Amino acid sequence: MDMTRNAAAVSLPVPAEITQIREEIEDVKTFYFRFEDPELERSFPIRSGQFVMCTVFGAGEFAVSLPWSPEQDRRHLSVRSVGKVTSALHGLRVGDKIGIRGPFGNGFPFAELSGRNLIYVAGGIGLIPLRSSIVHALLHREDFGRIILLYGAKSSRELMYRPNIEEWRKRDGFETYVTIDRPEPGWDGETGFVHTLIEKANVPIENTTAFVCGPPVMFNAVIGELSRRGLKDDCIISTLERHMKCGIGKCQHCAIGRTLVCTDGPVYTYKQIKTLGETI
Ligand SMILES: Cc1cc2nc3c(=O)[nH]c(=O)nc-3n(C[C@H](O)[C@H](O)[C@H](O)COP(=O)(O)OP(=O)(O)OC[C@H]3O[C@@H](n4cnc5c(N)ncnc54)[C@H](O)[C@@H]3O)c2cc1C
Repeated sequence: MDMTRNAAAVSLPVPAEITQIREEIEDVKTFYFRFEDPELERSFPIRSGQFVMCTVFGAGEFAVSLPWSPEQDRRHLSVRSVGKVTSALHGLRVGDKIGIRGPFGNGFPFAELSGRNLIYVAGGIGLIPLRSSIVHALLHREDFGRIILLYGAKSSRELMYRPNIEEWRKRDGFETYVTIDRPEPGWDGETGFVHTLIEKANVPIENTTAFVCGPPVMFNAVIGELSRRGLKDDCIISTLERHMKCGIGKCQHCAIGRTLVCTDGPVYTYKQIKTLGETI
């Protein structure tokens, strides 16, 4: 891709067509899309953990994680309808146009993770920002030690990416543990909060990096359990979500002290998050 195209994708939304919409869970839909520009469609380089700004024409723009992996997968965004722009997106149909700006942000530090055990701990839609990294790690399985997913949701109806989870369960060398908060008819899997899976999975602590994404109450319980077992703060990684406007470090909307989440983040170690004096 030449520099002009790259600059255009960063400063101006480029048009893309919605090709498929999947109802994921209540209020969350996955939108598959393709760029109108064949050059961008061929090459839109991303790193796991980055995000884009998505425009819904006539409604506005919002920040959204990239769930697809750098190597494979159709491009898609998984979005919860929470307000003005995301609900306008939910009103779109296959064939409608959206705009995409990006990709932005630092992404997960895969260069530093070679040879390490990777533990993914997600609650609810916290699986969205981790999906790309999980697929990436599985495609490079030989580069890592144990790869474990611990995933929890309030109920079975709130589990994201169920077809993916079923497929991952069958993969050699990928340990998948899924729990829902309370027993329910027809569910024969684990029950209880996601942090209880840390013990069930006998999660290693030496040479381990944990990716943790989910609501604050879940994040705090998981961090508490991992720390109690001896995992250091700089071996825990998460992503911060702050209201964003420009995505390129100009408008300061997402500033937390000295850091701009759009350019320095959204990926931070827990050690950095503590220094910022921030909460998830
Ligand atoms: C890096 C990043 C990645 C994200 N990835 C995803 C994703 O993959 N899928 C997804 O569904 N959402 C994601 N979000 C959140 C998404 O950007 C917001 O839900 C969206 O901006 C809401 O826009 P709206 O116009 O629909 O809601 P609004 O009408 O603007 O707001 C609705 C409500 O949500 C609150 N709100 C809006 N944005 C945020 C925010 N960023 N943090 C906390 N509260 C907020 C508002 O204060 C208000 O109460 C991400 C955010 C960031 C910063």
